[in-house]
Amino acid sequence: MADETSMRPEEVSSIIRRALQAETQAGGFAAVGTVLEVGDGIARVYGIRQCQAMELLKFPHDVIGIAMNLEEDNLGCVLLGKDELIKEGDQVERTGRIASIPVGDALLGRVIDAVGRPLDGRGPIETERYRPVERVAPGIVKRQPVKEPFHTGYKIVDALTPIGRGQRELIIGDRQTGKSALVVDAILNQRASDVVCIYVAIGQKNASIARIVETFEREGVMNKTVVVAATATAPAPQWYLAPYAGCAIGEEFMERGGHALVAFDDLSKHAEAYRQISLLLRRPPGREAYPGDIFYLHSRLLERAMKSSDGKICPSCGLLTPLPPTEENLEELKAAKVCAHCGEDISGREIADGGSLTALPIVETKAGDISTYIPTNLISITDGQIFLEADLFHKMIRPAMNVGTSVSRVGSAAQIPAMKSVAGELKLSLAQYREMAAFAEFGTELDEATQRQLARGERLTELLKQDQYVPMPVEYQVLIIYLGVQEHLRDIPVEEVQRFGEEFLAFIRSERPGIPVRIAETRRLDEETQQKLEEAIEEFRKSFVATAGADGARVEG
Ligand code: ATP
Ligand code: MG
Repeated sequence: MADETSMRPEEVSSIIRRALQAETQAGGFAAVGTVLEVGDGIARVYGIRQCQAMELLKFPHDVIGIAMNLEEDNLGCVLLGKDELIKEGDQVERTGRIASIPVGDALLGRVIDAVGRPLDGRGPIETERYRPVERVAPGIVKRQPVKEPFHTGYKIVDALTPIGRGQRELIIGDRQTGKSALVVDAILNQRASDVVCIYVAIGQKNASIARIVETFEREGVMNKTVVVAATATAPAPQWYLAPYAGCAIGEEFMERGGHALVAFDDLSKHAEAYRQISLLLRRPPGREAYPGDIFYLHSRLLERAMKSSDGKICPSCGLLTPLPPTEENLEELKAAKVCAHCGEDISGREIADGGSLTALPIVETKAGDISTYIPTNLISITDGQIFLEADLFHKMIRPAMNVGTSVSRVGSAAQIPAMKSVAGELKLSLAQYREMAAFAEFGTELDEATQRQLARGERLTELLKQDQYVPMPVEYQVLIIYLGVQEHLRDIPVEEVQRFGEEFLAFIRSERPGIPVRIAETRRLDEETQQKLEEAIEEFRKSFVATAGADGARVEG
């Protein structure tokens, strides 16, 4: 092949002329190219000009590709179908469409892959609305601070690391520490709430995904849940796309003024897929062989979770046009004129509450090491993290949340006052307990005050344990924690604490149902309710029979 320097001027100009011709024929850009090389799910295409990043490309045999690397004379794209079907010299067409996914109510109850194809055998998805999987996260004007709680139903989380709607809370832990269980239970807890859920499974076995879907169905939440699955056998580009697809589905609900949760299970696998794709695209490897832009990749994704500003909902397209959250010019805002999405007149519409998209990304650590690249990135991107520890998990302290290192940076603003009133004391007691427990391990003689703190801490730890599949409404959580922080467990043997709590709640349910109802309605634990609660505890204690003691003695009142 002749190199460029030996080309004659006429040859050069004829090449340019042909290129320009092709461009004009295709309406300003060359719409057709040829495959230069293909393999490992990646194709290099020559001849397409002005292609957009993430644009869909049409290959023969209905194989779809996504343009990822836009280089000067060729583009690298990932193939979403079987790459064996594609060969060198095949024709490739531009579609002009950015990778997008069907969205809307039609998706509820469905299991789809990362490009929106149904995986549940229940026929096509009947929707007209599509959204690009990637988009630039909305700016500050379209957001407001989180203010409504997102309840996971786990006592330990809702009390100590409360999550607000629109928050991003990372769930981090080694293999088999209950990470998936936490998000699955958080979804089950939405059965009666107005939050729709999107569970994104990345690189999980078909059987595990099927089991989770079955759980959603059994517990009656599948009708308000979407499962986006990039299974273990799906190609890396599917793993890469799945979280963006899930995010786009959630955004649609949020932009209609609703509330959505998106759980990414998990982003370690997503990062691995992106590393694989990038290396195949011959991008330079960076730290731990991940491409340099992996931080940007994850922040771009998680930045899309937010609490939207209040705004007006368009009667025509149903989407909310967010208005800047300034109290002063409310009158001006009320006069807002046209829908930002379809241009329809919205001047007469009332101001509606903004929607939210809450994100629960999961990341896996190896041997508890959180200082590796992906976990440290995600810790800095999110608004807090829940550490699940293998140690605690094996000691049967489940959920295995490390209370000392888990934090939630914004969610406490959204915690209901009733929970706040008991959680403060709980936090303090547990912190003291941790300190003392470390001390007590040396076997030193302990004074009475220390022993009391230890006993209290042990009981509180017992109280916060919770099985899978039984998320608890927040008003009941308040009652349980109240028992512990108000010293009602002092004389209950540690191994009886859980049973005491359960039977107490059963007692409340049947004998004093007004108490939780009142807390749920007012969101507070007012003096009157507290009084009633004290009376209820008093009465319940009379009936509680401790079985741990040899004589099965009644607890002293
Ligand atoms: P992986 O790393 O494999 O994804 P994971 O961290 O997601 O694991 P799970 O699959 O959620 O962990 O849980 C591991 C095991 O522990 C499961 O068998 C699950 O049933 C059990 N488990 C999780 N949470 C609890 C809990 N709160 N109480 C009792 N068992 C639990
Ligand atoms: Mg898991």
